[in-house]
Amino acid sequence: MKHQFVIIGGGVHGCAAAWRLADAGEDVLLLEAGAIASGASGGFGRRGVRANRRDLRELPLMRAAYRIWPELDERLGAATGYERTGGMYLIEQETTGTRGGLIAAQAHAEVQTRLGVPTEAIGRDRVLELEPAVSPAVRGALYCPLDGTADHTATTRAFAEAARKRGATLLEDREVTAVERAGGRVTAVRTARGERFEVGTALLVLNNTGAPGLLRDGFGVDLPVWRILPQALQVAPAGGPPMAHLVGHDHRPLSVKPLPDGTVMVSGGWRGRWNAGLRRGETTEEAVRGNLRTAAEVYPDLAGAELLHAAAGSPESCSADEIPIVDLVPGTGNAWVGTGWTGHGFAIAPAVAESLTAWARTGTRPDDLAPFSLARFGRIPHRAG
Ligand SMILES: Cc1cc2nc3c(=O)[nH]c(=O)nc-3n(C[C@H](O)[C@H](O)[C@H](O)COP(=O)(O)OP(=O)(O)OC[C@H]3O[C@@H](n4cnc5c(N)ncnc54)[C@H](O)[C@@H]3O)c2cc1C
Repeated sequence: MKHQFVIIGGGVHGCAAAWRLADAGEDVLLLEAGAIASGASGGFGRRGVRANRRDLRELPLMRAAYRIWPELDERLGAATGYERTGGMYLIEQETTGTRGGLIAAQAHAEVQTRLGVPTEAIGRDRVLELEPAVSPAVRGALYCPLDGTADHTATTRAFAEAARKRGATLLEDREVTAVERAGGRVTAVRTARGERFEVGTALLVLNNTGAPGLLRDGFGVDLPVWRILPQALQVAPAGGPPMAHLVGHDHRPLSVKPLPDGTVMVSGGWRGRWNAGLRRGETTEEAVRGNLRTAAEVYPDLAGAELLHAAAGSPESCSADEIPIVDLVPGTGNAWVGTGWTGHGFAIAPAVAESLTAWARTGTRPDDLAPFSLARFGRIPHRAG
């Protein structure tokens, strides 16, 4: 069976790319090892659609994402749960390392605003107007009114369904185990079931934590990428969510967001551990306690909130310089890889899909993907094929 565009991975990146291509009338096959939205793009709660304090090289993509997110429900014909809540980055200290603290807030606000992400550096009085329940230790914030949240599982499924409606074929339970190459081009992929699918125009390797292994085995390419296990908690505070915005913190490992059912999602840099026997990530008591303690330090109303859910089972790829890799696979002219999202790949997914599929269709790399080239890591050896 031959398809012009073959996509590996049914997370938000693979499904968004499938939708873009199918919407443009292309012939698309997506192969997913498990179920759609069973990786980092699945699970409970919501993801932040955040530009605030991202690496500046990602802001052109976030500017595009700000444009696309509000149109998605209508374009996909399904609810993504996207809400423009506004985003706060709370600050307590005068200085935090070299890049944080009150001392740096005005400069960050100005640069972000110039790069298309309207941002205000605000003092405690304004913080209290927007977030009255924060701890007395909070002295200021960076406020991005265009930041928000969306339901990642619903969004990924909405992309998948919209792609199907436009004629794409999405197959689950299809782990890609090998690629075939000839003359510097990928010609086919093989699955664990022994199927073979020919690739016409392009292969998009969008299988997140599965990409490094596939590139090593298929192309002799070692990506500077590893797997992390982000922890996420859901708590039920007695009085409902004490915050109204997507909230991050300048020096504490904390991210909190209100959920539509009156509960709160708590995360922010805490990690699970890999259970080799069960072959999945799991939480540790220490990290769960630490995350809850930090949340209550910033929002005292969260102290004693009932813990409903604790998970660290969604593996995510992390890159050496903490920004994604989106590039042609070395040694090929028709295979692209997107990985290394480093815990913040969801918000930019609609914009990455727009640019990556344009690149794969036209052969010209859009400017907003230039910072994510593999060239930044030096020359990466590859196997000819
Ligand atoms: C707890 C948590 C909180 C997060 N919070 C945020 C946030 O607030 N904001 C934000 O922007 N981002 C956030 N992220 C990151 C974001 O969710 C991810 O960057 C994004 O979902 C990655 O999407 P993906 O499609 O690349 O990967 P995935 O969703 O992991 O999809 C990859 C898919 O590929 C499949 N696959 C793997 N190998 C193969 C193979 N060989 N053949 C076929 N299929 C294969 C997997 O089964 C999987 O379904 C968070 C992540 C986690 C885990």
